[in-house]
Amino acid sequence: MRNRFTRSAAVMLMMIAVLHGQTSSQAPQKPGLPSTEKSSNAKKANKGNITPPANPAKTGESPISRPAVPKFDLANLDKSVDPCVDFYQFACGNWIKQNPIPPDYPDWISFNEVTEYNLAVLHDILEKASVNDPKRSPVMQKIGDYYASCMDEKAANSKRYSPLKPEFDRIAALKDKQQMLAVMGVEALAWPDPIFGFGAGPDLHNADMTLAAIDQSGMTLPDRDYYLKDDAATVAIRKAYTDHMTKMFSMIGQTPQQAAQNADTVLKIETELAKASMDRTQRRDPKNRDHKMAIADVEAMAPNFHLNTYFTATGAPAFKELNVGNPEFFKAVNTVIENTPLDSWKTYMTWRVLHGAAQWLSDDFVNENFKFDKALTGQEELPVRWKRCINSTDNALGEALGQPYVDETFGAEGKQRMLKMVDALEGALRSDISDLPWMTPETKKQALVKLTAIRNKIGFPDKWRDYTKLKIVRGDLVGNFQRANAFESNRQLQKIGKPVDKLEWGMTPPTVNAYYSGSHNEIVFPAGILQPPFFDRSIDDAINMGAVGLVIGHELTHGFDDQGRKFDPKGNLRDWWTPQDAQEFEKRASCVADEYSSFNAVDDLKLNGRLTLGENTADNGGARISLMALHKLMEQANKDANAKVDGYTADQRFFLGFGRVWCENRTPEIARLSVRTDPHSPGKWRVNGVVQNMPEFQKAFGCKVGQPMVRENACRVW
Ligand SMILES: [Zn+2]
Repeated sequence: MRNRFTRSAAVMLMMIAVLHGQTSSQAPQKPGLPSTEKSSNAKKANKGNITPPANPAKTGESPISRPAVPKFDLANLDKSVDPCVDFYQFACGNWIKQNPIPPDYPDWISFNEVTEYNLAVLHDILEKASVNDPKRSPVMQKIGDYYASCMDEKAANSKRYSPLKPEFDRIAALKDKQQMLAVMGVEALAWPDPIFGFGAGPDLHNADMTLAAIDQSGMTLPDRDYYLKDDAATVAIRKAYTDHMTKMFSMIGQTPQQAAQNADTVLKIETELAKASMDRTQRRDPKNRDHKMAIADVEAMAPNFHLNTYFTATGAPAFKELNVGNPEFFKAVNTVIENTPLDSWKTYMTWRVLHGAAQWLSDDFVNENFKFDKALTGQEELPVRWKRCINSTDNALGEALGQPYVDETFGAEGKQRMLKMVDALEGALRSDISDLPWMTPETKKQALVKLTAIRNKIGFPDKWRDYTKLKIVRGDLVGNFQRANAFESNRQLQKIGKPVDKLEWGMTPPTVNAYYSGSHNEIVFPAGILQPPFFDRSIDDAINMGAVGLVIGHELTHGFDDQGRKFDPKGNLRDWWTPQDAQEFEKRASCVADEYSSFNAVDDLKLNGRLTLGENTADNGGARISLMALHKLMEQANKDANAKVDGYTADQRFFLGFGRVWCENRTPEIARLSVRTDPHSPGKWRVNGVVQNMPEFQKAFGCKVGQPMVRENACRVW
């Protein structure tokens, strides 16, 4: 699925995806992990999805008809546009016209098209699994009962918010701040992080071992900017947020006056957390998040966090050292803890639980929760309940649901062809590095060692995760949700002090996405993305290399982007560059940053070239090496590069296949939100930003100097 949040496992793996997960109010900054990846995720993937039902489907209903496979099609082109003037418009113009954003999405792109197809497949699987039959396998019982409980809208409506009463009571009974931190430790297992994040991640200097980590967190809005900026759009969202909290508080029985006051209290606390937080662009540099400390020293630095009490309450194994992602945050918030009255903290904690659970309470909560999401993302409608329940099942039990999914969709043949393409891409990157004019032989040698060490994972894990200890109770929706989150948090925490499990996956098999992990030095392609229009067995190599080939190249290049280059072949944060080569790299990277900073995201809002630098570097490098690999494949097969298929040469089709993947429509709201939070550029610039830098493109389409797709100061890193 294209989840709203990256799963916590993914966070731990420090993965960098090819596409963002959707961002929403429920995606505060990532919990305390020294990750190299984008920071728009919550620890528990599940901890705060969206909600209300437009077409309440019942379990036991007939299969959902599967949407058409989103194949490459020349009918998507807009031939009235000169490809040298606006290639994206040429490759996508008709697609854009014919594919308006469905009301239950904030944007629409090939990734969503494939996701919709997957949803239909998963719907069949889960409808069958949800029949209460004692003969079901343990895996089918778990996913089936989870899904069936989730689909029971009537039960959810009759319970309203009563499943949260024990949580609210526990918070209300708090006597002092030390006890408060202990309860926060427990709440954080199942609900969005209160104040800060605590988890486990690879030791940045010993990537084979897992280290405890704490980091800034605790905000509800998607970025610190939402609390601190004063432009009209941001002020409006802050107002909508306060109104939303007021409404939600009144729905749990508070007087209008209390509710409004409490909303202000939460906003005030979260604004303090925002002020203490490092911004996303700074966080891209792993060195800024690399602070290994003894617990005793952190305790001395920020005593009001009562960290030992907190850690004990979570059930984490004992440890002496941990990584502190942002020490300044802990110093600053230490004072906030002291200066804020206990009652205000209780209000904040109540809000975090209510917010985290709202999507699975009764419809009034679900709809109010969605209303605020709509203000943030521009999405018109809540997805139907079965879609939301499939997503939730995937988040909670992804490697159980992944088993029947893989059986149905992914064959050995697909894996073989992918392996061949990965091989071709690695070969292309090897010759690309060897021929780089700006790098000394010394650094090249190191780069090639790193490239050779990159592992790849394709389709699904060799070893499935064991969910035996996760209790799924038929009929207990909120309980299942809570236990699944706690199960995942606990699974993460139990890794502390242990060797890193290199077989682990950070995405579930049906996920339409891919990632590179710096600490594992590996590229990962779930079965979900190995379908058209990314990978189509029935079409020529040129299209496939422009699509999935480029995605493979993109992930490989992440190992050598502004973040990835700081990690060595083993995944340790270690500088293997000569100072001169590092300087040359920075110069070239700055060219890319300046290029993308000049592009408009929406209205007059420009992209943040520094926030998106890694992704843009990966897109540019990926395109270059994927095209190289295509040429090699054609040479080996003795194919004529100038021969046309459907009127286009192989190189032209390569670029058309590339364009197709990024054809996109997005709401202005999500465009604004993405500029702040998404390290990826919008589709238009992922395509045009790349081709402008490529003489190969200009040659393929006969573009002339002075035309928009011929950049005067073309950038090239890899
Ligand atoms: Zn990427």
